Amino acid sequence: MSDITLDAVTKRFEDTTAVDSVSLTIEDGEVLGVVGPSGCGKTTTLRTIAGFETPDEGRVYFGGEDVTHVPPERRNAGLVFQSYALFDNMTVRENVEFGPKMQGVPADERRERATELLELVGIADLADRDPRTLSGGQQQRVGVARALAIEPRVLLLDEPMTGLDARLKRRLRTEMGDLLDDLGVTALYVTHDQAEAMVMCDRVAVMNEGVVEQVGTPREIYESPANEFVADFVSLDRIDLPFVTH
Ligand code: ATP
Repeated sequence: MSDITLDAVTKRFEDTTAVDSVSLTIEDGEVLGVVGPSGCGKTTTLRTIAGFETPDEGRVYFGGEDVTHVPPERRNAGLVFQSYALFDNMTVRENVEFGPKMQGVPADERRERATELLELVGIADLADRDPRTLSGGQQQRVGVARALAIEPRVLLLDEPMTGLDARLKRRLRTEMGDLLDDLGVTALYVTHDQAEAMVMCDRVAVMNEGVVEQVGTPREIYESPANEFVADFVSLDRIDLPFVTH
């Protein structure tokens, strides 16, 4: 995969500045979390990387290549939305093969790629199932395998835990975090749930009103918040953070 850079990106919608001169780098193989309250610009940041939004100012780079004006279909970003966004008229395998099929990958190769990915995410035995019959966690793995099947340059996850109950979410934080780690993918993980980001991500960017207030490792952000906003935001949920002892 590639490292991804946003260089002073600004995106406005009429009189709202959704993203205000944001500079961020996701290193190759890193999972960068983006957290912040509703409306702070998380999804717009993700959509700018995917190419669904063009910045009014600033540049977007994939591995040193300026992709600011490259359309989404030529950026090759893998997208994972909330866990129930699978195609339920297709089997698990067909879901994973869908992207490569659209890319014109030959049937044999698609099949091989899907088999490998389903093994990698630990659900090879579920290949022929209807996704509606899977647990939330299993569906999420299908979502990740499906996004990776297009061999993306970056994996973009937007609130993938939405719709799951609190207990499952807590379990999946660790499970998904380990999975992304094992896969070694470059990923942006958008969530409004600070604990989720702190547990799962290598580094976290805290956003507020379109601005990045702080970027750092979960421990840095927790132990040395840059300002009151960050301190307040991360102190809301100190439960389950691996480096916090009760
Ligand atoms: P949430 O956690 O609620 O999903 P977010 O942090 O992802 O929020 P964004 O969706 O990026 O926030 O929105 C940032 C701001 O830009 C908001 O004020 C939103 O209303 C505005 N906005 C986003 N997309 C559009 C659009 N297409 N047209 C007009 N305003 C928009």
